[in-house]
Amino acid sequence: MLNVEAIRKDFPMLNGKKMQGHDLIYIDNAATTFKPQCVIDAVTHYYTDLSVNCHRGDYELSYQVDTEYENCRKAVAKFINADAREIVFTSGASASLNLVAYGWGRKYMKEGDVILSCEAEHASNILPWMKCAEETKSVIEYIELDEEGRLTVENFKKAMHEGVKVVAIAQVTNVLGFEVPMKEICKIAHEHGAIVIMDAAQSIPHMPVDVREIDCDFLAFSGHKMCGPTGIGVLYGKFDLLQMTDPFMLGGGNNARFDLCGNILLKDAPYKFESGTPAIEAVLGLNAAIDYLSAIGMEEIHAYEKMLHEYAIDKLSKLDNIILYNKHADGGIITFNVKDIFAQDSATYFNTQGIAVRAGQHCAKLLLHRLGTGATIRASFYFYNTIEEVDRFIEVCRSATIENCLNVFF
Ligand code: PMP
Repeated sequence: MLNVEAIRKDFPMLNGKKMQGHDLIYIDNAATTFKPQCVIDAVTHYYTDLSVNCHRGDYELSYQVDTEYENCRKAVAKFINADAREIVFTSGASASLNLVAYGWGRKYMKEGDVILSCEAEHASNILPWMKCAEETKSVIEYIELDEEGRLTVENFKKAMHEGVKVVAIAQVTNVLGFEVPMKEICKIAHEHGAIVIMDAAQSIPHMPVDVREIDCDFLAFSGHKMCGPTGIGVLYGKFDLLQMTDPFMLGGGNNARFDLCGNILLKDAPYKFESGTPAIEAVLGLNAAIDYLSAIGMEEIHAYEKMLHEYAIDKLSKLDNIILYNKHADGGIITFNVKDIFAQDSATYFNTQGIAVRAGQHCAKLLLHRLGTGATIRASFYFYNTIEEVDRFIEVCRSATIENCLNVFF
């Protein structure tokens, strides 16, 4: 079991922070996570001790930055069991997913080809493919979800056919928090000649992920959802696929040479995708976040969050005023509404009690339509949340009556 009390000491935001006069309870971790001191230190280390560009200079400080920058690439590769040349740094999961849709999708999709996705996807894993479909005259088809909103292998098999060239789905969805059996999905997709783009924004921060074991073709995630800085994300791609993919940015650092006739020779992956000066401090911070999470253990993190989730669901199920949409989620995400109260109004009430939750459509508009509601509240735990915080959250849920929620506005 995790030593959560000790872990919390590592996070400045968890030490005495108040909101609305209450001890802050932050359960909006699916949106972004807090940063431990070691990550903050890694970011300031860059500005304090290095502060020069990477991949540019021929002096000692520049070499040092290059080494630390490339060490992070190696650390990411180790974290997901990939090769360092398969790790592309981007600004976040959205940028990574767009890069695949633009650089691979627009190049290789043709009229009539099919992109297979589902209604539970985040906008960042569906809109780039809608655009790709529009431009290449390919089409998007949606895998039917089961009654709970889960993507099952059975339904995936039914949706799969020889016309499918791309499967774009999240390993863990950001509203319902269901885990998709990606290994089986990839096997079936490959048997039909399709590639799989796995959105790992909500999985990598919470569980061990091994790209070789799963055999996905591309994978995307963000640093800020896993204790790392904002402005840094990763695109993993199998090396041959990355080599076939076009960058959507050209410029300094991504080419080996170019001439007056317009001939451009790009570098090999991953460098051909990394034009311009990157968020160097964020890369160094991501390395610290990976070290931090690895020291705690991804299995342990996953097990702890599942325990928190089960504990909370057990108590919430007993409250008459709460509608739960994902009782059986596989991680720490709880999506719910307070009966007869609009989600944003209840979230405002939670705010007055010092509890940070997210309300709205969570960038998954197709799904909410299916759930038959305009908006939901999402509470999402991370390994630094405590049972006591969950108890307090349940208490506030219990007290979320129409009178209390609406009183906030008067
Ligand atoms: N995919 C999923 C499943 C997400 O939850 C998110 C973040 N909400 C993203 C993609 C996009 O991540 P970012 O905003 O960091 O680019």
